[in-house]
Amino acid sequence: MLRWWRRDREKRDAEPERATPEPGRPFVREAERRLLARLLRRREELRYDLAQSEHALQPENRWTERLRELDAAIADVEHQRAQRAGAPARTGDPPLPAVPIAVTVEPERTAATVTLDIAGVALRWVEEVDWAERGHQLAPARLRRVEGNATEILRAVGYQAAPAALLETLEASLDLVAADALSAARREPIWSPLTLGDLARPCEQCGGWRDVRGRCPTCTARDWQRQQLLLERNRLRQERDEVFRDWQRARDRLPVIQRQLAEVEADIRQLQTKGVQPSGEG
Ligand SMILES: [Zn+2]
Repeated sequence: MLRWWRRDREKRDAEPERATPEPGRPFVREAERRLLARLLRRREELRYDLAQSEHALQPENRWTERLRELDAAIADVEHQRAQRAGAPARTGDPPLPAVPIAVTVEPERTAATVTLDIAGVALRWVEEVDWAERGHQLAPARLRRVEGNATEILRAVGYQAAPAALLETLEASLDLVAADALSAARREPIWSPLTLGDLARPCEQCGGWRDVRGRCPTCTARDWQRQQLLLERNRLRQERDEVFRDWQRARDRLPVIQRQLAEVEADIRQLQTKGVQPSGEG
């Protein structure tokens, strides 16, 4: 339809308007020739719309096909959501022993140090000094661990092979505690004593481990995935509604298009009976 229109347009543009009637033919006003050209274009558009509406009334059409695809996609997402919701909570490992943590902070040194002593294992952090920021301690302390790790601690309390999730959580908690300890020493010297058991607690929801702030990375990741599935389902439902509405519109428009097409065709016949040739083609 578009190509048809363009071709017509190019021809018309290429050919200058004829102001004088051709010899032997009735005088035709240019306005009528243009009107006829417009009506012919409109007829093409309506024929296209008519074909779409008739297609929409077929039992199988592009809308029903798309709706089936979307229904299948929605069912798939719902299935994934149900699977995640129904996943039983795994029984976690026993909690870590309540071994006390001795915290030593030396905040006044050029580069502050934090030392944690857990079950005879020493862990030490040194502050990374950014000279540009010295004098005003607005930037959070950046501590670099220079000694000790979670594996050594776990070995000291009797773990021969610790699960990776426990090691990761413990490592993260150790760094958090060191940063908190330095911050407390500088700003608010209130410190609640911690034990090893506070650094990694079994997560009752997934059987993983919660860090010193009570956060479980496994649960966080699952929540995020659940959220993504929910967004995806909502998006699919919205598209389904739009496709359905578009289909209904195409079906409902059939009588309107038929009437408009009949009117346009009557107008075209009338002009052609008068001998009018469309502008750009005559
Ligand atoms: Zn969890």
